[in-house]
Amino acid sequence: MKQSDVVVRTAAIASEVAAKHAADVDKASRFPAETFAALKQAKLLSAAVPKSHGGAGAGMLELGHQCAALAEGCGSSGMVLAMHHIQVACLARHGLGTPYFDRYLRENLVERQEVVASITSENGTFGDTRSSICAVQVDGDKLKLDKDATTVSYGAHADAQLVTCRRTAESAASDQVLVLFEKGTYTLDQTGTWDTLGMRGTCSPGAKFSGHGGAEQILPGLFADSSAQTMVPYSHILWSALWWGIASDALGRAAQFVRGEARKKPGTVPPNAVRLARANVDLQAMRHNWESCAIEFDELGDDRAPLDQMAWALRMNQLKMSASEMAPKLVHEALQIIGIMAYKNDSKFTVGRHYRDVLSAALMVSNERIAGKSASMLLVFKDD
Ligand SMILES: Cc1cc2nc3c(=O)[nH]c(=O)nc-3n(C[C@H](O)[C@H](O)[C@H](O)COP(=O)(O)OP(=O)(O)OC[C@H]3O[C@@H](n4cnc5c(N)ncnc54)[C@H](O)[C@@H]3O)c2cc1C
Repeated sequence: MKQSDVVVRTAAIASEVAAKHAADVDKASRFPAETFAALKQAKLLSAAVPKSHGGAGAGMLELGHQCAALAEGCGSSGMVLAMHHIQVACLARHGLGTPYFDRYLRENLVERQEVVASITSENGTFGDTRSSICAVQVDGDKLKLDKDATTVSYGAHADAQLVTCRRTAESAASDQVLVLFEKGTYTLDQTGTWDTLGMRGTCSPGAKFSGHGGAEQILPGLFADSSAQTMVPYSHILWSALWWGIASDALGRAAQFVRGEARKKPGTVPPNAVRLARANVDLQAMRHNWESCAIEFDELGDDRAPLDQMAWALRMNQLKMSASEMAPKLVHEALQIIGIMAYKNDSKFTVGRHYRDVLSAALMVSNERIAGKSASMLLVFKDD
């Protein structure tokens, strides 16, 4: 497949910048600053902004390949880029046509290449993104919001926060809206640490958020719609793509190792080459799974109605569960194929970081929680 300019330029940054700093980012649990400086310089952070507003107007398939390419160099970088695109997509698909968001897309996201973080998780609701305790308080044309967040990725490094909350203090937990807060209009007081097994470069500690601003910062429409039509599909497809990128890099190391073994004994096929061949079957299936969802999403164009339906919600849940469970299996296969040289942290064949990074996949919106939602839908869903 011929890749787009966005993907090719991101792949170059992945190998020339992200991969070089990945071990240190992981070890120090620090933000991949060099990678994001390079993406900003190359104006690749506005890939998801529509062309009408100066962005690259990349569709889901292109963004998936961009995130996967970056994740091949550094999993945390791939995840931060994916999370940024998810927020940008919400703003672009639901805010377009309002003066505030039109300006924000053009000036902040395209001209200044700013980074947007997400605050959905909350103490008391945890992984249930579709319920909030906090509520936005609107007084005339002003608003304020306080939120006790459990996990805020790259919050301290971002230029804005997109926050879920209840629509009013009287609203039900699921009656939510999204509110955008630009730097200078909020404080984020870190309440915990981010010393995790993997995805250490996402820098995602808990934080108490407090923001204020104007009522125009509320994204038009309900979060019920932006979640189903944008946040869930972008999250599950882009995450699956980047988890695939991590698994692909681990199996790439295994392939390199096996080729080295073959060179030592010309004319023979090393025994672990068969295991590598089998692992590639699953890697291909994993890729086709997220790609086919991305293609279907892109083909819908402006027709959002199918995204509100149960068939699509089930498909997204199934993709997320499948990719998040397959990625650790494939990295495990790479470890078995390479052996001790993959187990050593200081070997060029190490897959330790890959392994630890993909273990977050099943937790990042718990698969058990997602399976529970699918189970309820399947009780009533009829496939026609
Ligand atoms: C790398 C990373 C980055 C993140 N970045 C952000 C971010 O930027 N912003 C943000 O808001 N959040 C972020 N999160 C949080 C994430 O999206 C989830 O909200 C969080 O990981 C869920 O936490 P939890 O496991 O405690 O919650 P829960 O979903 O409540 O799960 C807790 C436990 O309950 C079980 N469980 C839950 N529901 C069910 C059910 N229905 N049936 C059976 N068992 C169930 C689960 O299996 C799990 O064992 C991030 C998480 C990770 C790993």
